[in-house]
Amino acid sequence: MSRKAFEALNRQQEQIGGKIFVNPRNSAAGAVRVLDPTITASRRLDFFAYYLLVDGKVPFAKHSESLEALKQLRFRASDDWKLCAGIEAVIAYCEDWDAKREKLPYEIDGVVVKVNSIAIQNELGYTAKAPRWAIAFKYPARQETTVVNDIIVQVGRTGTLTPVAVLEPVQVGGVTVSRSTLHNMDEIERLGLQIGDTVLIERAGEVIPHVLKVVKPGKNRKPFRMPKHCPECGSAIHKDEEEVAYRCVNAACPAKRKESLLHYAGRHAMDIDGLGEKIVDQLVDKRMVKDVADLYALKLEDVAALERMGEKSAQNLLDEIEASRKNSLARLIYALGIRFVGERTAQLLAEHFSSLEELAAAKEEELEQVPEVGPKVAASIVEFFSEPANRQLVKKLYKAGVRPTAEKREVKSNKFAGKSFVFTGTLANRSREEAGAIVQQHGGKVSGSVSKKTDYVVVGTDPGSKYDKAKELGVTIL
Ligand SMILES: [Zn+2]
Repeated sequence: MSRKAFEALNRQQEQIGGKIFVNPRNSAAGAVRVLDPTITASRRLDFFAYYLLVDGKVPFAKHSESLEALKQLRFRASDDWKLCAGIEAVIAYCEDWDAKREKLPYEIDGVVVKVNSIAIQNELGYTAKAPRWAIAFKYPARQETTVVNDIIVQVGRTGTLTPVAVLEPVQVGGVTVSRSTLHNMDEIERLGLQIGDTVLIERAGEVIPHVLKVVKPGKNRKPFRMPKHCPECGSAIHKDEEEVAYRCVNAACPAKRKESLLHYAGRHAMDIDGLGEKIVDQLVDKRMVKDVADLYALKLEDVAALERMGEKSAQNLLDEIEASRKNSLARLIYALGIRFVGERTAQLLAEHFSSLEELAAAKEEELEQVPEVGPKVAASIVEFFSEPANRQLVKKLYKAGVRPTAEKREVKSNKFAGKSFVFTGTLANRSREEAGAIVQQHGGKVSGSVSKKTDYVVVGTDPGSKYDKAKELGVTIL
């Protein structure tokens, strides 16, 4: 999993209130282990081919020839290998990569050293666990101990309060670390962490450092408590019963304002290039922008007067903002930053509703008709649009000319109204997506998993576990 994919995953997890992953290795392993292949697919895993067998045998005399052949066969194969003559060259190579590995787009924890001659490889053979002709050189983990001087609270875009450890600055793998996210109250309790404690921290790649454990409790340690009021706006803090997160519910909280502007401008949202943190800070602090709709009313001379801006870059930014009006409905829905509505859910909503206004007016029952939208997501959408400030925003966006429409699925009949379908296996004449579209055109609902509420399970060849589940629940099988 690349660093980028990992960071994107955690951003998304944070947005939907899901589990935050500690490192790419962890999340990649988890992605392979989950039983739902759609989750695995969404994690954007990648691989390098490094071993070629033809009829169970290496078809070359040397391992290096295999690597070259894989490349020629258009497999994704790493270019970062080197033929080393002797152990000195191997050591130099490992040391070289210790410095360079930070710059790779993915994380590595070591280098594998292999015997190049396949004949010698065969002679050396295997132990019960591993080949004798390959060994991994592991870089020392980037861990360090330091003192937690304080625990402060940051307010995120969705209003979530995140405790952050303020550390006695310490060098970890060549970088000074002075802060580390503690994610939430549960994590602090799990660690048994208090202010003043000495902790072990780890930094992996560019990923934000995290606290592994308390090494020594501080002499005058002090427990951390979540504030009762938002550190940004002073509003009362809420906590849902079943949730870990504490949140500021003030829609106009300045902390949320900046974050929601950044989210709105994000590459997967409205993709407004040039609207970065520095600009957003100024726009909000100078009260030029209170919500995302205000972006469309910005004037050239005002933008050009900002720090780090010239006339030319100001014009570029305004052009980018202008162009964002033409984005798809799916992007706009995602860009609003509704809790639990990630990119995929936004896409599915855009396929169901023909405009933002229509989505904003939808009731929970109607939202739950959308594939993969359950009660939790539906409730969150209704809650979002019940907020007067957000309803106002929908109107403002419309007035500003942000009016994407989606092609609504053509409705042909109500034959399947109220019926729920699940597809599994390979269908004979059309893809599952096409078959699903037909069901929807006739008023039916397509669901991803079999439950008691499922009316029909359509089984193709090589069906998955859904088939067994359907039999178990006695659902009609077609
Ligand atoms: Zn607040």
